[in-house]
Amino acid sequence: MERIASFTVDHDNLLRGIYVSRRDSLGDKWLTTFDIRMKEPNREPVLDVPLLHTIEHLGATWLRNNSNWGGEVVYFGPMGCRTGCYLILKGDLESREIVQLIKEMFTFIANYSYPIPGASPSECGNHLSHDLPMAALEAKKFLIEILTNPTPENLEYPG
Ligand SMILES: [Zn+2]
Repeated sequence: MERIASFTVDHDNLLRGIYVSRRDSLGDKWLTTFDIRMKEPNREPVLDVPLLHTIEHLGATWLRNNSNWGGEVVYFGPMGCRTGCYLILKGDLESREIVQLIKEMFTFIANYSYPIPGASPSECGNHLSHDLPMAALEAKKFLIEILTNPTPENLEYPG
């Protein structure tokens, strides 16, 4: 099988940030997939499953309720490698266009207090696996260390 494009990016050199992973055309429309990379691949501990699950619930809820971008959101969810999340938006977009959106989303997560949306047994497939305090801590860390003042290296993958 052919190696898919996202595996050809050299993960040894990736930093934390907001990156365009791919753009796909759908008829005359475009979808942009972003890597919201919260941990440097293979160089620091990854995000624990429960906190990542909580980030998924809070992030997806906040994004879909956002008055400007809510209608553009196709998907938000965790990366299997647990270094961050994927965000798929309608449109042909650049990372810098969503810095403010992502900053606001992580500010929401960093300051959130219970209840976690969609976290009852009837709404979620693993409702016991959540960690709001750690989700808030990791959101705050990503905000302070990266999103407050992102450099070009935090917004574009090395060509
Ligand atoms: Zn869930």
